[in-house]
Amino acid sequence: MGLCYARAMRDGRLGVGTDAMEAALAAARAAAARGEVPVGAVVVGPGGAVLAAAGNDVEAGCDAAAHAELIAMRAAAARLESARLSECDLVVTLEPCAMCAAAAGLFRVRRIVFGAYDPKGGGVEHGARVFATSPHIHQPEIVGGVREAECAALLRAFFAERRSSPKR
Ligand code: ZN
Repeated sequence: MGLCYARAMRDGRLGVGTDAMEAALAAARAAAARGEVPVGAVVVGPGGAVLAAAGNDVEAGCDAAAHAELIAMRAAAARLESARLSECDLVVTLEPCAMCAAAAGLFRVRRIVFGAYDPKGGGVEHGARVFATSPHIHQPEIVGGVREAECAALLRAFFAERRSSPKR
């Protein structure tokens, strides 16, 4: 998995959807290894190049808003030296929360591809339903459920282990 990710990063090209989701899953696994909730995100630029990849950084960064999507979008924008990601896709292992969905609108991403649905914390298909309820903000194309089972299994395993191990 890590090798595939490294090779794709080196080659600078990943197809949108399942290939990019592999890179997002790798970022999520790396986040889990750091003790973060395993959510990973990548921003894929025009032509399929991965511009940025990130996992959650809430605990290490002491920042409750350091979600993978926000980190990846900021890094991609910095790399492009542009505040807009108009030709870019955000690929993330979990349905974005309302904050990240709204941020994706501000960054004007072309498409949001996510893996697992999040009935509790999601803000795209659940909860605030940011795009459906805000017709005047930029509306990315939404593709949910890509490699859903793998993305959800990663989260389930993380929380199961956390419940079974004593509090730090
Ligand atoms: Zn978020």
